[in-house]
Amino acid sequence: MNVITDSVEISTCGHTDIIDITPQVEQALREAELERGNLTVFVSGSTAGITSIEYEPGLLKDLPEAFEKLAPTGVTYHHDIAWGDGNGYAHVRAAILGPSFTVPFDNGKLLLGTWQQIVVIDFDNRPRRRDLIVQMIGE
Ligand code: ZN
Repeated sequence: MNVITDSVEISTCGHTDIIDITPQVEQALREAELERGNLTVFVSGSTAGITSIEYEPGLLKDLPEAFEKLAPTGVTYHHDIAWGDGNGYAHVRAAILGPSFTVPFDNGKLLLGTWQQIVVIDFDNRPRRRDLIVQMIGE
């Protein structure tokens, strides 16, 4: 059993930017040369989250619209009153989504569906650089 920890850096536009990170995650798995186990991707930071989605134009609009209903922009959050950074909505969205995603792999391949990509969603109200941790546990 091995534990391998890698990292991937990405740039985002913020504002609920949805970024397909599947190629970078697959690359990390190839470099780890593990056959089977579990891979976790984690974003450090409290205004972004990770999930999976079918990365197609309709859903890239539907998902931000759903988040707009859950935690709308343009309203006052207690966080904004306390800190003045205007991104209370981003923290709430990130907390709902969660900061990590785990996927099993076998024969050196992620066991994702054909139409399932791993995405980072950056909710912050400005462009950001994000450090993603990719940790693989397997053999
Ligand atoms: Zn904040």
